[in-house]
Amino acid sequence: MAGSVASFDEASSSVVVSATDVTKRYTRGTEPGVLGRLLGRQSPPTVCAVDSASLEVRTEEIVGLAGPSGSGKSTLLHLLAGLERPTDGTVTFRGTDLASLSRRERTRHRLEHIGIVFQQFHLLDSLSARANVALPLVETGVGKRERRRRATDLLERVGLGDRITHRPRELSGGEQQRVAIARALITDPELVIADEPTGELDTEAGRTVLQEFERVAENRAVVLASHDRETLELCDRLLRLRDGSVVDQSPPGGSQ
Ligand code: ADP
Repeated sequence: MAGSVASFDEASSSVVVSATDVTKRYTRGTEPGVLGRLLGRQSPPTVCAVDSASLEVRTEEIVGLAGPSGSGKSTLLHLLAGLERPTDGTVTFRGTDLASLSRRERTRHRLEHIGIVFQQFHLLDSLSARANVALPLVETGVGKRERRRRATDLLERVGLGDRITHRPRELSGGEQQRVAIARALITDPELVIADEPTGELDTEAGRTVLQEFERVAENRAVVLASHDRETLELCDRLLRLRDGSVVDQSPPGGSQ
């Protein structure tokens, strides 16, 4: 019996992020003021981007969000990252309800615990690959020497040791995305979130980036949204979204 309790504890303690019945509604347009209401103006329509979705993501797991454009994938990623607050439901990170944090605390939490990779890389053109990778450490107060050392290490790990002083425009799309992955890892986050990470890349570059994600997930949790079959095949588990709802979910450890 004691064994089964221990294994239950281990399983629950490895949950990095969980969402319980999260809903996100956006308002399209602005609410009428007092005068507008007196004049009979209606409240603007709302769109339910995520509708009562629940999921748990554990260390060493890659969870994929699939579904057509507009089905709520990016919004769900933003909720998990604490970039957006749910209208209803809770998002907890290692047991802490993100809603209990102030805006400043959430920013700090994101900086320290979550790495984010975007489809369009979002690198700064005026900075070298190394300075781009080191950027999150400026915010966390790490000294310049240490920043450069860690950024160089990470660029070497993603196979770009000979590109550290290159500017983003001097790199291919696949190389830029690997710089973005290195930047996402610089604070050694427990969770990496990626929105269409191979969406801008050709097949070959996409494959190299996917290999990086496999390595990334060796000691952290990864949630990624994608349309791409090959990218989704990499995932340990898939959630299919339609109109903001999770319509299908493969079980933990199950095949898709
Ligand atoms: P996906 O990533 O699957 O393409 P999104 O999460 O981007 O889907 O969008 C889900 C729905 O929410 C869409 O109808 C989209 O137009 C709407 N939406 C997303 N962000 C906003 C926003 N900031 N304001 C208003 N509507 C939004």
